[in-house]
Amino acid sequence: MSTLLIKNGTIVTATDLYKGDVFVEGERITTIGTALTMPADRTIDATGKYVLPGGIDVHTHLDMPFGGSTSADDFESGTIAAAHGGTTTVVDFAIQYRGQTLHHAWETWMKKAEGKAAIDYGFHMIITELSDQVEQEMDALVAQGVTSFKLFMAYPGVFMLDDASIFRALLRTGQNGGTICMHAENGGVIDVLVKKALAEGKTAPKYHALTRPARAEGEATHRAIALAEMAGVPIYIVHLSAAEALEMVTEARDRGLPAYAETCPQYLFLSYDNYEEPGFDGAKYVMSPPLRARETQDRLWRGLAFNDLQAISTDHCPFCMKEQKELGKADFSKIPNGAPGIETRLSLVYDGGVRTGRLSLNRFVELTSTSPAKIFGLFPRKGTIAPGSDADIVIFDPNRSMRLGAKTLHMKVDYNPYEGREVTGVTDTVMSRGKVIVDGGTFTGRAGSGSFLKRATR
Ligand SMILES: [Zn+2]
Repeated sequence: MSTLLIKNGTIVTATDLYKGDVFVEGERITTIGTALTMPADRTIDATGKYVLPGGIDVHTHLDMPFGGSTSADDFESGTIAAAHGGTTTVVDFAIQYRGQTLHHAWETWMKKAEGKAAIDYGFHMIITELSDQVEQEMDALVAQGVTSFKLFMAYPGVFMLDDASIFRALLRTGQNGGTICMHAENGGVIDVLVKKALAEGKTAPKYHALTRPARAEGEATHRAIALAEMAGVPIYIVHLSAAEALEMVTEARDRGLPAYAETCPQYLFLSYDNYEEPGFDGAKYVMSPPLRARETQDRLWRGLAFNDLQAISTDHCPFCMKEQKELGKADFSKIPNGAPGIETRLSLVYDGGVRTGRLSLNRFVELTSTSPAKIFGLFPRKGTIAPGSDADIVIFDPNRSMRLGAKTLHMKVDYNPYEGREVTGVTDTVMSRGKVIVDGGTFTGRAGSGSFLKRATR
């Protein structure tokens, strides 16, 4: 069994912060202490650096078809980029298209990942049609470690479920222990606004944002939580972007309801102003929900600090400007929705969150690793540095800076939403189940070495 000793680093978990050494045997952490002296196949000196649990990104869309195009990163390029950025686990979305079984969807996405993923992965199952048979399949998938499901209140005719189906799915998780994740935007209202804008000749990218009001997200978030409350089950709101939606989550949590929500770096660092960039550049930021008013950023940071928001994921769903985003040159509603982010999460949140004093180091680890691991049934195998946990470890240099740009990052997409932005706090070395997969910034892992993670129920 190969052994690895990480010396002299500052170990950071969601609760602890101390100088220490970590000893890894095979795929697991076995010993933590000070001044460990056991012989190891390799010793890494982490002096002056943080030793963090590997990042967990529970919202990615690799190799995902959308509107006649496919997201630019597949499971190979996407997970390699993730590793460069200190993420060692992704939970991606497998889509049930109408007329298909959940199992068919699951197998399709398992094939996409197999032999390609360089880090461990799991799946949430997107349900777009709910029948009695699909409800039974939910139980079977939970038993196989696919313990969360995503439903849409937006995209009528494609992904959207009606309230009755949503309620039935929620009730079902009360029996099988799964968790429902919700895309909360009022799809009916948005559809009407989109049609109206197009009829008025408003075709530029900014109209994507102007036809998806913050209140449409607030309303759907409220409804999603109310449906979960009536079903007596928890709910997890994905990619929360609007202050109106955050208020609904906060109100529910104040009442003691198990309502959870994530936000994403794009909503913390970018804003509606980006849609006003010249020419067609606003298309870079076309994603759903859209970027919001700049003032919202402070509200979201506060939500993260005070635990009204529990996780930061990326919603990584890259489409190139060339040939992909361009599909919507004459009609914003045809711009593929999504942006790249799988690689830049830790550096952005460290730089903009920890260095500014908005988040403690512990909270940074909790939001990017521990809390998503707990919510989605991966803890304590993932999400912490502890004896017995998988040796998914990031050595993070808090003093090194880098300039973000499409050319130097590893995501397979021809632009970056943070192009030119300088961040301090960079992933240096990364271990996935005890193997060094990023060594001083160079990828040394292997496509296909990631394994499917069977996740636990609540
Ligand atoms: Zn998404």
